[in-house]
Amino acid sequence: MSNRRVEIIGGGLAGLLAAIELSKNGIEVAVLEAAGQFGGRARTRDVDGFLFNRGPHALYCNGALKRELDRLGIPYSGGRSLSGARQAIAVGKLHHLPTTLGSIVRTSLFSVRDKISYTRIFKTVMDGATGSGSFADWLDEQRVSPMVRSAVEAMGRLSSYVNGAADVSARALLDQIRLTTAGTIYVDGGWVSLVNGLIEAARASGVELNDKAPVAKVNCATGRLELVLGNGETRKADAVIMAIDPKAAAALVPEVTSLAREAREVRTVRANSGCGACRRKKTTSHLESTRLVSRP
Ligand SMILES: Cc1cc2nc3c(=O)[nH]c(=O)nc-3n(C[C@H](O)[C@H](O)[C@H](O)COP(=O)(O)OP(=O)(O)OC[C@H]3O[C@@H](n4cnc5c(N)ncnc54)[C@H](O)[C@@H]3O)c2cc1C
Repeated sequence: MSNRRVEIIGGGLAGLLAAIELSKNGIEVAVLEAAGQFGGRARTRDVDGFLFNRGPHALYCNGALKRELDRLGIPYSGGRSLSGARQAIAVGKLHHLPTTLGSIVRTSLFSVRDKISYTRIFKTVMDGATGSGSFADWLDEQRVSPMVRSAVEAMGRLSSYVNGAADVSARALLDQIRLTTAGTIYVDGGWVSLVNGLIEAARASGVELNDKAPVAKVNCATGRLELVLGNGETRKADAVIMAIDPKAAAALVPEVTSLAREAREVRTVRANSGCGACRRKKTTSHLESTRLVSRP
């Protein structure tokens, strides 16, 4: 073990993964988690034996989390999502929502002209399309019919749970659509089982885990970094990882202007829900009832 010490603020998935990685590489690591349990947004509630994930539920087959869990040998099991069963309701009728090139031909959602257009868009996305503006800007550039646009927007909502094409970055959303197309796993026992696996691996590799340990301030003016906890206790570190949201991170070290700028730029975007469809009803006729029914 080296004599370097890293304190990690936040015991969600990111904090736990970072802790295991560092500890396995010989660094002395402690995790400080404000809540009484680890996992952050990855929580599962047990109601009379039925398990409800309160945050994440889909483990992306091509995603960074699955890659890291597999690399660290954290065990999990689960079923693959059935992306082929996705459907769209458009103008009062149920249609198959195509998620592969082959299924575009079969769907009743599009006219022949729209099938050609959707095929082009689908291929563009799968080939790595990206954009510097919002997802809505990117869609504008594609010059497609309202129905094709609506279907691509629906894919975006289904992939990201974000209902705000004008607010979300095209680059992030297009990456997310590609990620979803590779399939997801619904984890047996809920995401708490992943958190428990990470806690076990962290303990086994010597990570110091502290819950109910909110960090109130990080002093980085001189020498070693100093963390001040909510109860007034102080801890020294050679490095600090803030595995928390940008606004909370900026609040801990207000003198770091780059963090403050990041925090200012972060905007909350509405989660995807049926409301999106209700809102559209007022503004457009063609798309009034286009929304998704996902059958995982
Ligand atoms: C409704 C919903 C559905 C989602 N669905 C999916 C999905 O299906 N698949 C997927 O991959 N992702 C999904 N996500 C995203 C996923 O939940 C997050 O990307 C992931 O949980 C983030 O983990 P994290 O460790 O970065 O942050 P968090 O989980 O937010 O953890 C941060 C931790 O830091 C702690 N903390 C904050 N401030 C302090 C402080 N000052 N001192 C000490 N501790 C502090 C918090 O208590 C928290 O435990 C979903 C998110 C939501 C909300």
